[in-house]
Amino acid sequence: MPTTSKKNKVPFFASLQVKYALSYLVIFAVVLVLLNTYPVVASQDLLFASKRDSLKSQAAVMASALMELESLSAEQVARVMNMLDSMGLKRILVTDPAGLILYDSTKQPQEDGEPPPEGDKAPPEYRYALYQEVVSALRGSDVFYSRYGDRVFTSTAAMPIVYRGMVIGSIYILEVDQAQGELLYSLQQNLRTISLVIALVTLIMSTFFSKMLTARIAALLKAIRIVGEGEYGHRLQPVGRDEMAQLAGEFNQLTDRLQTTEEVRRRFVSDASHELKTPLASIRLLADSILQTDEMDPAMVRDFVGDIGSEAERLTRITEHLLALTRLDSLPVGTEHVVDVSQVMERTAARLQPVADAAGVTVEKNLKPGCMVLCTEDDLSQICFNLVENAIKYNYSGGKVFVAVYRDRDQILLEVGDTGVGIPEEDLPKVFNRFYRVDKARSRAAGGTGLGLSIVRDTVRRHGGWVTARPRNPEGSLFTVGFLRYVPEQGEKGAEQ
Ligand code: ADP
Repeated sequence: MPTTSKKNKVPFFASLQVKYALSYLVIFAVVLVLLNTYPVVASQDLLFASKRDSLKSQAAVMASALMELESLSAEQVARVMNMLDSMGLKRILVTDPAGLILYDSTKQPQEDGEPPPEGDKAPPEYRYALYQEVVSALRGSDVFYSRYGDRVFTSTAAMPIVYRGMVIGSIYILEVDQAQGELLYSLQQNLRTISLVIALVTLIMSTFFSKMLTARIAALLKAIRIVGEGEYGHRLQPVGRDEMAQLAGEFNQLTDRLQTTEEVRRRFVSDASHELKTPLASIRLLADSILQTDEMDPAMVRDFVGDIGSEAERLTRITEHLLALTRLDSLPVGTEHVVDVSQVMERTAARLQPVADAAGVTVEKNLKPGCMVLCTEDDLSQICFNLVENAIKYNYSGGKVFVAVYRDRDQILLEVGDTGVGIPEEDLPKVFNRFYRVDKARSRAAGGTGLGLSIVRDTVRRHGGWVTARPRNPEGSLFTVGFLRYVPEQGEKGAEQ
């Protein structure tokens, strides 16, 4: 037998395991990107803001000190600036309104006495501060720029020096902050390391979890295939209490039902073949006896042929009953009509009257009119026939059969009681099983097949009813069938009385 597992192999990227692991990875990749960008950007912004505040206030202090001078000259500016603290700034420039550099902190006399670079002789691009910041400051705006790169924060601020509403010059400061830059860089590095660890753990965990989940799905798939190949005893071991465990539980329940159905089917087939084999064997034996006995007494031959006839009749009855059961199993319920149960019972009792007479049994009827149910007439006749026939069959000569049809609230009840042999308490639940007989010899002698009551039960259930068997007081048995009473819809021509 070719195995289905190869044929049904799932392509790598279509497999649940890969999809599951990938979805994990995608989610974590997004989280990691966020983790690596947001804190860095946020702290960068924070540092920019603090730099802007500190640089602007530094520039403002210097601008207000220079404002006092009214008009700016290189010497005066140098004097004032030398008095001020440069506060770790890399460069301070003071220009006149034309952008000419009046003071440059990088070109002041060094402590070791080295002379300053020669201002006036320098080329104009060195004498004029042609920075964007300075130009904007001379136009009257406060400017601040900050940039982070190569582990360093480079920030510049420029501000006009205003005296009586006139711009008399500008101040430009430059700060290069390596300490904060290094701090931000190490934060970035730390985040990168953490992300790497998280990514690694996620990869391992997602592989592990997806493997675990898909292993359970694979086990379920395997179990389905095994059961599909006919091994109905196979069960799954539910692990945990999650959805997969529920699935395994449901699968086991389904397989239980399948196994039961399969067992019932097998038993039915074997019982049916056994039932058919017995009369066939008798027929063969009787025919062989006639053939092999020379000059058989004609009366005996007639006897044997008569027996062959009754065995053939039994075969016919069994096959008819089997066919009826198969029809009940496989065919849909025919169109249901409103049927008067009392009328059907009346007709059935009339049909069985000769049988009752022959058995010396009296049939007493109590049939209330207007007991309507939704059913098919054939099915209802079959139910009545099997029950009344049994009540006559399993009775004593001189015994009685009581049939009653009446309404009980929203139900129509059909009762068939008798004063017959009765059914032992322990057999009561089993009498509706296929081929079950309480007294095999009596059933066979009465021409029973052991299928009559199964047909009754299946037919009743098909029409939404129920049937019970119980002992009748003081003797015999009582079968009760209940159907929902038919109530005509408003405006419909009803048969209700
Ligand atoms: P059968 O064809 O043998 O009558 P049924 O399915 O109709 O098969 O009934 C099953 C068994 O139940 C019978 O063999 C008989 O032993 C028992 N049984 C059915 N009806 C009665 C009854 N009215 N009184 C006593 N026993 C009954």
